[in-house]
Amino acid sequence: MDHTESCLFCRIARGEIPSYKVYEDNLAIAFLDISPASRGHTLVLPKEHCRDFTSCPKDLLDHCFEVAQTIAQAQIAQLGATGVNVLTNVGPSAGQSVFHFHIHVIPSYREKVLDLTTKPLAIADKEMLLLQDEIKKAI
Ligand code: 5GP
Ligand code: ZN
Repeated sequence: MDHTESCLFCRIARGEIPSYKVYEDNLAIAFLDISPASRGHTLVLPKEHCRDFTSCPKDLLDHCFEVAQTIAQAQIAQLGATGVNVLTNVGPSAGQSVFHFHIHVIPSYREKVLDLTTKPLAIADKEMLLLQDEIKKAI
């Protein structure tokens, strides 16, 4: 079996698994992280499978970072984020758990400085839908 058939993020990109999608074009997709570090935590990834930042073709990498910039701008404009963490994990020792390259775009808020070592937030479906709508408005 082709490994992209079972890859979680390939499956989300193909629409086989639902997500709170905030952006999509022919090359990339962005959706809310299911275990967010903060309200509006978004993942940006190429639709084409590649394992991580180090193996992503440069044109796709550039495009994904452009999308990540748009998402960060939307988080600031629409969610009231006062800052944003942009990061990508490479390999298990760096905390990568899904081996399809993705960029975390994590809004931060003045009242609560982001701590990536804390447990993810539990955000109800209704609020995830609201966050999705707010980010989409500014794209
Ligand atoms: P990594 O640890 O590989 O840098 O990031 C993987 C991210 O994917 C984690 O933050 C995790 O919460 C998120 N994630 C894992 N499974 C799913 C899923 O089924 N849907 C969504 N939207 N995010 C997921
Ligand atoms: Zn994949």
